Parts: sequence; C-alpha cells; structure tokens
Amino acid sequence: MKIVILSRNRRLYSTSRLISAAQARGHEVLVLDPLRCYMNITSLKPSVHYKGEAIENVDAVIPRIGASITFYGTAVLRQFEMMGVFPVNESVAITRARDKLRSLQLLSRKGIGLPVTGFAHSPDDIDDLLDQVGGAPLVLKLIEGTQGMGVVLAETRQAAASVVQAFMELKANILVQEFIKEAGGSDIRCLVIGGKVVASMKRQAKDGEFRSNLHRGGQASAVRLTPQERATAVSAAKIMGLNVCGVDILRSNHGPVVMEVNSSPGLEGIESTTGKDIAGEIIHFIETNARPHRTRTRGQG
Ligand code: ADP
Repeated sequence: MKIVILSRNRRLYSTSRLISAAQARGHEVLVLDPLRCYMNITSLKPSVHYKGEAIENVDAVIPRIGASITFYGTAVLRQFEMMGVFPVNESVAITRARDKLRSLQLLSRKGIGLPVTGFAHSPDDIDDLLDQVGGAPLVLKLIEGTQGMGVVLAETRQAAASVVQAFMELKANILVQEFIKEAGGSDIRCLVIGGKVVASMKRQAKDGEFRSNLHRGGQASAVRLTPQERATAVSAAKIMGLNVCGVDILRSNHGPVVMEVNSSPGLEGIESTTGKDIAGEIIHFIETNARPHRTRTRGQG
C-alpha cells in the first residue's frame, strides 16, 4: 500500500515509528508536512500537491496534526478524503476532538462518566456556576490549552472566582470543573485502536503538581484497567468517531471519568511503558480497514 503520514517532522518519535512499522510490512511511505501540502479545490477532481508534484494513488493517510495547525491540517486531510483516500482518523472527528467543550458535550449526551463541568460567558453568572459544579477546590481549564497548559487548580472559591473573571476579561473561554482529588495526581491513558483498548498506562504527577502530563514531569507505569474503564474508553472513542485515539481517564469516587480524548496520541510514552508495538497495530488497522472511498463522511460536515 501507499501510505501518507501527515507530520511536520519525520524525526519525531511517533512519526519515525510509524514509518518503520509501515516499511517493515512492505508498504510505501510518504511523509508530508501538512503546511507544505497545497490543494486544488476548484476542479472536479480534487488533488493535493507537494513541492511541485501531485500526490496520487494513495491508499491511506495517517494524520499527525498538531493542535496549533488544526485548521490547515484538517483541510489537507479533508482533501485526501475527497480523493477517496482512507484516513486513520477523519478530519471531522479530529476537529470535534480538538474542542474540549464540544467533546464533553458529545460524551455527556451518551452518558459517559465525566467530571462535573460548567461553562459560562458572563461574569454575572460566575457565582451560580461555581455552585453548580460543587464549589472549591476547582479545576479551571482554558478551552484551547494542551499539555496541561492553561489548567489551574483553584483551592478556594475566591481564587476560582477571580481566575474565571480574569480569563473572561481577556476573552478566553474557560471550563470550570470538579477537582477529582481522589485521583491523587494520576490519570490513565488508554490507547484505543479500531474499537479496542490495545495498551494503557498510569501517569503520576510529580510531587506538588496535580497535572500528570509527561511533558510536565509525570511518571508513567503499566496499569490494569477495570472492565468499566475499558468499556468507558471504547465508548468514548466510538462517540468521538476516532479509530485511533488516547482516552484520558481519572479514577473518581463516582467511577471512571473521561477528561479528554486525544486524536493524535503520542506513541513514545505508551510504547516504552508497555513494551507494545503500537505503531505496528496502527499499520495493521490500516491493512484491515483501508479501502478506497471508505470515509464515513467523505469530508462533509
Ligand atoms: P491538557 O489537555 O492540557 O493535557 P487536561 O484536561 O488533560 O489538559 O489536564 C491536564 C492534567 O491535569 C490531567 O492529565 C490530570 O492529571 C489533571 N487534571 C485535569 N482535570 C482534572 C480534574 N478535574 N481533577 C483532577 N485532575 C485533573
């Protein structure tokens, strides 16, 4: 098969692992920087061009689109979808997952366990909003943040109210969330591929920190999931319409709660912690599922 990986840098761990896994199985791999792909959208025959050449006869595309280039990256992916190329994750699903609020709304509609979460626009509503989510301590999250940036723990109601107000004045959208203290600074990353959890790890925040992101010094270790956690991760992936994703779960005293579904999960932490060949599993998923014009939405919506 001819597989395109949309990635800004072929030397990134996840990208280089995907390249070797695909080549080891006899596939042809092209790594394209999404920001250097350009598109002809006027003709009836959609096309993608790269450094002067038309990219043709591609069987599957693996999007590794960073949060900062979601808009352009998903446009490129959509163009491949319109050409009938099979995407590992569809552009619509990636766009959905990138919006924290929209993701939580979609998951809540289907009854997935979530931290109690609130969202408001007007400073006049802050007081009632803080009551609704159960008062301090509270976690405040910038909707556009990644890797734990813009995630703040407010220990007191007064701190929460002033942080929310400050963000509102800066016109930044912010979620107010129940603090899952009993998670003890740890969360669980479940890697879902094709409707199955293929690997999972526990991430523990360093001392004095409640955010367990590995980028913030969190430590990963292997973990056994409960059947309920496994089922939650699988359902969350399905609701978001993602074939490959990382579902982040907190162990709360009201069961597993989903914090976030990541459409471009990093492979380094999970492969080194579990010893599993996740890149190989992704290529295997493509081998069994990629057919021309098998995008569910074909870029619409
Ligand atoms: P990002 O997408 O920026 O990583 P997250 O929402 O995943 O932001 O939050 C970062 C980390 O903060 C999580 O991995 C988790 O350890 C911690 N965290 C986030 N929300 C809560 C919460 N409601 N209760 C307890 N810990 C939380």
